Amino acid sequence: MTDTIFGKIIRREIPADIVHEDEHCLAFRDIAPQAPTHILVIPKKPIPRLSESGSEDHALLGHLLCMVKKIAAEAGLSNGYRVVINNGEDGGQTVDHLHLHILGGRSLQWPPG
Ligand code: 5GP
Repeated sequence: MTDTIFGKIIRREIPADIVHEDEHCLAFRDIAPQAPTHILVIPKKPIPRLSESGSEDHALLGHLLCMVKKIAAEAGLSNGYRVVINNGEDGGQTVDHLHLHILGGRSLQWPPG
């Protein structure tokens, strides 16, 4: 698969404001935040998008959600937050490396555009 900007962040080839790292994932602040807190959680495995994950990724996907909960709590988002996965062109995905957005720190509207 092709490399992405997130692959470069994982390998520390470009800088990022990293808030969490473990064996399976990395979390860092979005470069163009859409809310006072906007953190991206990505697997170190370069899965391009959710729809291209496989049955072998079930535990990893569960781990990412568990880390979202932990990172959101550590970021102080006690009043709530939103978790977003943009998938593919119609989903608005712009970086072809699976990522979960954590958005919080303000009241978010629904439905999204
Ligand atoms: P998507 O639109 O694919 O769901 O989200 C990609 C996100 O990655 C966007 O919110 C965008 O601001 C963020 N992003 C793109 N390039 C970089 C970068 O180099 N560093 C960081 N920290 N975030 C990035």
